Amino acid sequence: MRVLLALGGNAMTNAEGRARPEDQIAAAEVAMSAVAGLLAHDVEVVVTHGNGPQVGNLLVKNELAAAVVPPVPLDWCGAQTQATLGFVLMNALEAALAARGVERSTATVVTRTLVDGDDPGFASPTKPIGRYLPADEAALLQGHGEVWEDRGHKGWRRVVASPEPREILDAPAALALIEAGFVVVANGGGGIPVVREHGRLRGVEAVIDKDLGAALLAETVAADVLVVATDVPHAVLRYGEPDAEELGEVSVAALRRHAADGHFASGSMGPKVDAVCRFVERTGRRGVITSLDNITQAVDGGAGTVVTPA
Ligand code: ADP
Ligand code: MG
Repeated sequence: MRVLLALGGNAMTNAEGRARPEDQIAAAEVAMSAVAGLLAHDVEVVVTHGNGPQVGNLLVKNELAAAVVPPVPLDWCGAQTQATLGFVLMNALEAALAARGVERSTATVVTRTLVDGDDPGFASPTKPIGRYLPADEAALLQGHGEVWEDRGHKGWRRVVASPEPREILDAPAALALIEAGFVVVANGGGGIPVVREHGRLRGVEAVIDKDLGAALLAETVAADVLVVATDVPHAVLRYGEPDAEELGEVSVAALRRHAADGHFASGSMGPKVDAVCRFVERTGRRGVITSLDNITQAVDGGAGTVVTPA
């Protein structure tokens, strides 16, 4: 049994979303202790993760230091956070494995994800990233070619393309390590977005949705189940309303109908639902959305929103 585990923001930050190094290490320890539990039960786990708060922090450093050191592009931020979070997750996982007396080696693969240069996201960017700034500071950055949007009383926010992930170009390397017995962390933040141009690859100023990237990775590494771990135990119908209803086992067709009816917010639960539906539709296997503390039961279909092919 091979599980692709997609870790959300709360697996890498504290409950308030703070991302000090000690917060990230502590959160990784909690997540990796659950992963070690799965590995101890002979479940093979491949880990991917989000990087929103971490990239957000790097962007602030870019802004504040721009007069002294040149800002680095967004694709570099993706590469840096994949490496750093991979390091943090490997340390935490190895400690958790050692505590259980399980011997496994870990590896992180920094992966590039191919996107289309003519993806509509590049013409009209929609994905908000980084912090809010007052209009005058935003104007300065717009002068450097960035797209910023007036978001009302909170201020202005940068928006970038969130193109469709087409292919995880470094998946073969991840797969070779998986087959060799490594517990692999890969494709963090959905992968570094690259386009193919004149026979070579170029990083682009965009972010890939980590859940859609996870669905593609799950398919590519032939996972038996995709588990999207977040901070709520279920996808919920009429979320936040008095007659809210938690979804348990649900067919992919029914879940698609609920999504079309607008039950899942576009910036949060929406992409998770879409990711799990894609995986189930393409592979005929199962997908689960649940909270991090449920993942052991989720793997057997005993917790969370379990999405089935029919
Ligand atoms: P992560 O950071 O773990 O990837 P997000 O924070 O983006 O995840 O998304 C999880 C959040 O989605 C939940 O905390 C919840 O507030 C929100 N959400 C929006 N719509 C729904 C829904 N229909 N059912 C459950 N959660 C929802
Ligand atoms: Mg979150």
